[in-house]
Amino acid sequence: MPEIAQALQHIQQQIRAAALRFQREPAEIHLLAVSKTRPAADILSAYQAGQRDFGENYLQEALSKIQALQDYPALVWHFIGALQSNKTRAIAENFAWLHSLDDLNHARRLNRQRPEHLPALNICIQVNVSAEPQKAGISLEELPAFATAVAEMPRLRLRGLMTLPAPAEDFAAQCVPLRALHEAYQQLQAQGFALDTLSMGMTDDLDAAIAEGSTMLRVGTGIFGARLS
Ligand SMILES: *Cc1c(COP(=O)(O)O)cnc(C)c1O
Repeated sequence: MPEIAQALQHIQQQIRAAALRFQREPAEIHLLAVSKTRPAADILSAYQAGQRDFGENYLQEALSKIQALQDYPALVWHFIGALQSNKTRAIAENFAWLHSLDDLNHARRLNRQRPEHLPALNICIQVNVSAEPQKAGISLEELPAFATAVAEMPRLRLRGLMTLPAPAEDFAAQCVPLRALHEAYQQLQAQGFALDTLSMGMTDDLDAAIAEGSTMLRVGTGIFGARLS
């Protein structure tokens, strides 16, 4: 079996084991394969092993892979990298999901620029749960008003929350920011937001993320191996 297919199988097994251990339904935990720096051929290998959702961080690199793989319409492209105003149009036109929304001006641009022939752009709001300075994401305090504004934009479909916590020492420390995001997610649901996506957990904190309620794991090195630069 090719290496990437094997790695995917291994990650799927890890997800199932963690789901069992933390009494989660495996079917509600989705896997996003983070393919930044990897060539289109690697994406195709993962696709042939059954993977459909791919996450990219760098716009130009992503656009060339989307172009190269346009004969595979079942691929679902997620933008998970830093967002700037000059990128919103290409994201609105080429991606199904955006996980890193943290600016209402960007939201308004995406809402205006999303092409009519495509369904609304799926959105996760990026939250800086531990309020680390210099880090992307809005604060937990800003979240309710921000979510309300995004939910009113017809060409955006607010699906949930995303976080990218600082690396932590051990399992218990990994859980802290993930639990805070889960609580914020549940509070929004209680306020009536129809959210179904909690985008958290990467190769190194996969088990903690499953323990804390993740519904979408973003895994790069665990599938594709060490990053190429
Ligand atoms: C690179 C990246 C990942 C994947 O990280 P790995 O440690 O390789 O699994 C997940 N989310 C974001 C936002 C990333 O930039």
